[in-house]
Amino acid sequence: MKIYDVAIIGSGPSGASAALKLAENGISAVIIEKETLPRYKTCGGGFVYRGRKNMPFDISSVVSKEFNKIEIYFDKSGQHLTAERPEPLVTMVMRDEFDNLIVEKAKEKGITLLQNHKLTKISFEENIILHTSEGEVHTKFVIAADGALGPTAKLTGWTDTRYMIPALEYEVEVSPEDFERLSKEARFDFDAVPLGYAWSFPKKNHLSLGVATMRRTKIDLKKYYRDYLKTLGIKEVIKEEFHGFQIPVGARTDGFVRKNVFLVGDAAGFADPITAEGISNAILTGVMAAEAIVEGKLDSKKSQELYEAKLNEVLIPELKTGAYLAKLFYENTSLRNLLMKRYGSRMCEAMTEVFMGERTYPADIKKKITEKFKGMVFNKFKN
Ligand SMILES: Cc1cc2nc3c(=O)[nH]c(=O)nc-3n(C[C@H](O)[C@H](O)[C@H](O)COP(=O)(O)OP(=O)(O)OC[C@H]3O[C@@H](n4cnc5c(N)ncnc54)[C@H](O)[C@@H]3O)c2cc1C
Repeated sequence: MKIYDVAIIGSGPSGASAALKLAENGISAVIIEKETLPRYKTCGGGFVYRGRKNMPFDISSVVSKEFNKIEIYFDKSGQHLTAERPEPLVTMVMRDEFDNLIVEKAKEKGITLLQNHKLTKISFEENIILHTSEGEVHTKFVIAADGALGPTAKLTGWTDTRYMIPALEYEVEVSPEDFERLSKEARFDFDAVPLGYAWSFPKKNHLSLGVATMRRTKIDLKKYYRDYLKTLGIKEVIKEEFHGFQIPVGARTDGFVRKNVFLVGDAAGFADPITAEGISNAILTGVMAAEAIVEGKLDSKKSQELYEAKLNEVLIPELKTGAYLAKLFYENTSLRNLLMKRYGSRMCEAMTEVFMGERTYPADIKKKITEKFKGMVFNKFKN
């Protein structure tokens, strides 16, 4: 009976990237995926440069469009900001093609892919036994890359402490005139949804339009999508495909490794708390988990320590600061608008640097904002 060193549940960007890294280091690994590849994934497909610049191979064959510029609209205050870079700030991909490309690269290096294998149960014995719809797979380590709604963490014993938000994605075909006009810009519209935003991400021949909210109480997101079509001036929808899903924008609070199971990407809750952008952190953490297992030489304790140390170095502090900023940004709109009016361009520039991978969110941001706000109130009374 074959016992793999590592079994990866899920073939999204986190799982496929982990597989590639393991294969490059001669570790025997298998990807277990419930769908047939290439499979559609509900996603805007906006891949920010901090992720793209670290890709270990050329992805141009799956690039739908590239944008060196993004437009940010605040509908209520009428503010409009633009971020621009010489490099593609956001690369548009269709996730079926993008994810499959990484899987193909991993397969070229020797990874086994078991598609149409749905994980249903896990037994922890001398080795780990993964029960799937098509039979058992035996392994020493598991990388749980099964996304926002995958079962691996729960089957291992985690309770769900992630902060999940609802989001809708529409793949929309519009008239040639509207497409000509709207395909020129990648845009975010804050205030288009309460406590959230809408986006227009142009692809080769259609628009990926979406709405997301940080609010978890009942909200009619479809209505806000319809309103957004009007904001964009879309007169006629020729074809429309609707998909709803969830994005974990708050990381788990009870650890990321147990019983040789390593959580990565959305399974861990690693999407950006402000933008809900999750592809780049999915790839980053998939690679980190694989590296930890390689560097730990398949020793459980060492590999766990290494993965936790890698996460704690930059990502976890960044996500904590991001969660604070997201709360301020979405829940306290009057303070946000005040700050945006004064410091909008600087804040936009700082966010662009995060997207580019040139900086992380500043650790002392809470203190800085409190000081700035106090200063603004003081000046208001003084004048
Ligand atoms: C509406 C929407 C828009 C988004 N837009 C963007 C965007 O523009 N840019 C961005 O960066 N991020 C975006 N995101 C977030 C992004 O899609 C995720 O963060 C990213 O896909 C996480 O990658 P992953 O590899 O962790 O998981 P996933 O990509 O979700 O992959 C998980 C894989 O696991 C498989 N799986 C699940 N259960 C099982 C099982 N039982 N057995 C076997 N396999 C299983 C699934 O089939 C899937 O292939 C968006 C998300 C949503 C919902």
